[in-house]
Amino acid sequence: MPVTGHGPSPIKPEHCPALVLNADFQPLSYFPLSIWPWQTAIKAVFLDRVQVIEEYDRVIHSPSCQVRLPSVISLKEYVNPGQHPAFTRFNVFLRDRFTCQYCGHRAPNGKELTFDHVIPRRAGGKTTWENIITACPPCNMRKGGRTPEEAHMRLLTKPLRPTVHKLQNHGRSFPPNYLHESWRDFLYWDTELES
Ligand SMILES: [Zn+2]
Repeated sequence: MPVTGHGPSPIKPEHCPALVLNADFQPLSYFPLSIWPWQTAIKAVFLDRVQVIEEYDRVIHSPSCQVRLPSVISLKEYVNPGQHPAFTRFNVFLRDRFTCQYCGHRAPNGKELTFDHVIPRRAGGKTTWENIITACPPCNMRKGGRTPEEAHMRLLTKPLRPTVHKLQNHGRSFPPNYLHESWRDFLYWDTELES
C-alpha cells in the first residue's frame, strides 16, 4: 500500500507501531513489548485476524481506500504463551528483575550485570535455572569459585524456574522507551520510582 506524503498529519507511518494484545486484552508480551510495524498491523486487520481497539490520527492512502493506522490491536484468537520460558540470559535477568541477587544492585539495562553459578562448576554446579543467578561484577568477583556459605554471601531470593506468567509480571516493571499514550490503559504503569 503506497503512502502519499500529503494529509493533515506529518507523522511518518514508521513511527506508528501498533501495540498487540492477546484475545484477553493483555499485551501479548511485556518484555520485549509486543509491537508490530504498521504494515504488519494493517495486513492483520485486512486478514481479519485482529480487532482494532485504538487508532492513530495518522491516515494512510492507497488508490482504493484510506485507513487510520491502528495504535492498539487485539488478536481474535487467544495465543497460549506456554508454561515455561526459554532459559536465556535475558530471561534470567528478567526473573531476577535485573538485580544482583547478593547485594541488590539494580541495572535495568543489564549492561553491568553478570551471571553466577551459585554452586560453582568445580563443585558440580550446573547451568540451570536453579543454579544461575544475576550478580553484579563486584559480588561475582568477591564470591569467586566459592559457595554462598563459604563466601558468607546470602542470596536475596531462591533461584527457581519461572513461569511465563511470572516473567510477564516482572516485565511490566520495565516499560519500553517508546510508549504511545493510547497504550497506557493496556500497560500496568507500576514502575518503582527512583527517590
Ligand atoms: Zn552485587
